[in-house]
Amino acid sequence: MSKLNFVLFGPPGAGKGTQSTFLIERYGLIHLSTGDLLRAEIKAETELGLQAQELMDKGELVGDAIVIGMIRNMMEAHLDAKGFIFDGFPRTRAQAEALDEMLSAKNEPIVAMFALEVPEEELVKRLLGRGATSGRSDDRDEAVIRNRIREYEKKTAPLKDFYSDQGKFKSIDGVGTMAQITERLVKAIG
Ligand code: ADP
Repeated sequence: MSKLNFVLFGPPGAGKGTQSTFLIERYGLIHLSTGDLLRAEIKAETELGLQAQELMDKGELVGDAIVIGMIRNMMEAHLDAKGFIFDGFPRTRAQAEALDEMLSAKNEPIVAMFALEVPEEELVKRLLGRGATSGRSDDRDEAVIRNRIREYEKKTAPLKDFYSDQGKFKSIDGVGTMAQITERLVKAIG
């Protein structure tokens, strides 16, 4: 059976992590979040974690080679997965191209890219709310949040065209209750 490989796409605070939790359970997928993987490196105080933290604290992207390497390792560690949900990856064109290359070598392409659409003011409100409880320092400072959104618009949002050109782009309204948004995703998966 062909693998269910999905990209869950959207700006910071769009709900990618939350929706991934529902989807991995429902479809038996492996969740690959580069943000979570980077935070694990920081927690373990690795060299990579130290380098990444500086950039993450400013709301800037970590280098392509680092995140591509992390994704490659995780995919190698889960060769028998039914499929992957890529969350927060790819974030640049170089990452999207590297991912396509890795997947086409295995003949297991991305099936669809779901873009959660949420207006900027709602994103800032959600992230500041999360920052109050999550312990994520990049969610506590409004200037850092706005910088992450700018980085998204400049480097990541153009990937909509990358996936649209492949006929894989699907826009999902990301405003509503968690359950409503899950339902929209499930319907889109079909
Ligand atoms: P959010 O989507 O809420 O910003 P993430 O956990 O996905 O949260 O990302 C947190 C930070 O980790 C980003 O601001 C960025 O610095 C870094 N990061 C995560 N994924 C990537 C990636 N694919 N490429 C570059 N940097 C990344």
